[in-house]
Amino acid sequence: MKAAIYRGAKDIRIEEVDKPTVKAGHCLVKVAYCGICGTDLHEYESGPILVPDKVPHPVTGCSLKDGICLGHEFSGIIEEVGDNVEGDWKKGDRVVIEAVISCKECYACRSGCNNACSKLGFVGISGLGGGLSEYFLSPAAYLHRVPDDVSLRIAAMSEPLAVAAHAVRRSGFQKGQSALVLGAGPIGCFLVKVLIAQGASTVIISEPSSTRRNKAKLAGAHHLFSPLEDDIPARVRELTGSDEGVDVAFEAAGNERALDAGIRSLKVRGTLLNVSVWSRPPKVDLNEVVFKERQLLGSSCYYMDHPAVMEALKTIDLSAFVTGVIPLEDLVEKGFEELVHNNEAHVKILVSPSGDMSL
Ligand SMILES: [Zn+2]
Ligand SMILES: [Zn+2]
Repeated sequence: MKAAIYRGAKDIRIEEVDKPTVKAGHCLVKVAYCGICGTDLHEYESGPILVPDKVPHPVTGCSLKDGICLGHEFSGIIEEVGDNVEGDWKKGDRVVIEAVISCKECYACRSGCNNACSKLGFVGISGLGGGLSEYFLSPAAYLHRVPDDVSLRIAAMSEPLAVAAHAVRRSGFQKGQSALVLGAGPIGCFLVKVLIAQGASTVIISEPSSTRRNKAKLAGAHHLFSPLEDDIPARVRELTGSDEGVDVAFEAAGNERALDAGIRSLKVRGTLLNVSVWSRPPKVDLNEVVFKERQLLGSSCYYMDHPAVMEALKTIDLSAFVTGVIPLEDLVEKGFEELVHNNEAHVKILVSPSGDMSL
């Protein structure tokens, strides 16, 4: 079968590899669509970052020299069910894969926070296969069923939607509250969708790119500001009341000024939820946190969020987020290189490893 194998920065090759054979506790999944994620793009541009380089990943035992199959945002159809599989899975079932790999032994895992595992890994980054290939041999425990009226294209976006849903859950957001989202890249846009679906009274976007602001508007954001032109905390207070501010703010830009504006835009005891991964540690004015009794929280990927997310896919319309559908052969040129040169125009490029676009 064909698979996209990561060999290092700017070196992703479509290679012929052995099709996996089904084994106990696993299902063989024929991949329908796989999204390209910002994480994949970072690996392409300047990796290996999360891909295990010299030291093999402690759970998968894989490293770069083995060649790492990419792709962690994917949907597919079960082709074969192994022995002793838990759950009512059968050939033909439409599924998505929950991509978090954890050790199941460390303190985080024992506490039900497998997404904060000390040996955290991901399908499509840490080895043992990925979604940018024709087939994926999935532990049955990773599988979630796609609702009948949700297409496999839309279902492939359940992974970034789960990231957003987990962040919103972690933030303590309640229906009727106001929210500020800093950064309207893919995760920012998915956050807007989740906040609107969960009944936010006001969703405000801070994003310097007008192209991205338009994507956030399409996602349903109520107010859109540019941090290059607007004083964000001041504009937020024009909307929420002069001495109030938003209930929750989401940092999805990985930018120190955005983080600062987010904290200053919060009401007393408001919460800033950071979902960004930072290339350099940001400076934070903790007096802004202390004197207003604000909270700073972190959120990483997802755990146990998929059942609710699969249900939410029935009503959240993500179709406008698909900004390209390409066959696997075009992955580098029309996928990664397109995202390098034309990133702001895209939310999600989907890849069809089988080439069957009718799925
Ligand atoms: Zn991702
Ligand atoms: Zn663990």
